[in-house]
Amino acid sequence: MDINEIRYSRQHLFQPIGKTGQVNLGNSRVAIVGMGALGTALANHMVRSGIGFVRIIDRDFVEFSNLQRQMLYDENDAKNSLPKVVAAKAKLQKINSAITVDAHIADLTWKNAEELLADVDLILDGTDNFEVRYLINDIAVKHHVPWIYGGAVSARGMTTTIIPDKTPCYRCLFPEPPATGTTETCDTIGVIGPIIHVVAAYQATEALKLLLGDEQHVDTSLKSFDLWQNDYSAINVKNAKNKDCPTCVHHQYESLDPKQKTERFVSLCGRDTVQISPAKKVHLDLDQLAERLQSVGKVEQTPYLLRFFIDTYSFTIFLDGRVLIHGTGDKITAKNLYAKYIGS
Ligand SMILES: [Zn+2]
Repeated sequence: MDINEIRYSRQHLFQPIGKTGQVNLGNSRVAIVGMGALGTALANHMVRSGIGFVRIIDRDFVEFSNLQRQMLYDENDAKNSLPKVVAAKAKLQKINSAITVDAHIADLTWKNAEELLADVDLILDGTDNFEVRYLINDIAVKHHVPWIYGGAVSARGMTTTIIPDKTPCYRCLFPEPPATGTTETCDTIGVIGPIIHVVAAYQATEALKLLLGDEQHVDTSLKSFDLWQNDYSAINVKNAKNKDCPTCVHHQYESLDPKQKTERFVSLCGRDTVQISPAKKVHLDLDQLAERLQSVGKVEQTPYLLRFFIDTYSFTIFLDGRVLIHGTGDKITAKNLYAKYIGS
């Protein structure tokens, strides 16, 4: 018997997939943005269930603090500081060698997003970054590619399925990113493993339905969970389309427009420092930020700025949202640190 006949036997028996559906999954192409906790759980499901082409995109490397929840990585990957997509690809190909795993060590930006996301059947969100989600949304709407939003922090999670031309888009549901410095991240308030798998399980199931063309069963409600507080909700957002949405109504793709993009991350020459400007004009609440950062590192506060020390790095955070990260001149490293401790 063919190994794949045995491998997929339980999906062959599962009526909504069956043998024909399995062939369709084998011909499907999926891109996963971010190979952190959600991304690794999603990739695990996609590869095991036999999606023929899985593209994985991430800019970061494996650290020991990832192992508690990022299911494809082990101690050796962290010891060797392997790029996440390299470690993930190795593990995924051991699980299923028949799948094409297309790994990209890359920071998803307007420059590469169309190349990486426009040629797939479905995009899965494994990021924890609002800016990247607007970028995914722009590509998805522009190229009519469905995508599945997912996010998790603490014991809370959220997910919804966005089908361009049919459902409200991400910008309809979330018109503005949260103000700089107000987002809670896994690196400031923590996260537990199980919430990742709840969100990823919904995303992966919706992915199978969409790839099989079973739109009748696709759930486009906005679901949120708090596993610790025992809360669950599913909001019907069918009527939440913004009739004036810049993205899905006016087709203005702000994230893809180089004219709109001033470089937010600038390496300051010879100073081993990267300066980051806020995405939007902001007046930071330094007290609130200090309180949040205190639990992970040393914080010094003046009326005008906050200094935050973590590992070999230090942050200088100004009231206008500008941040200097000292201890690196590398923009990607700075971007990772910024995403972890300040948010997006
Ligand atoms: Zn919209």
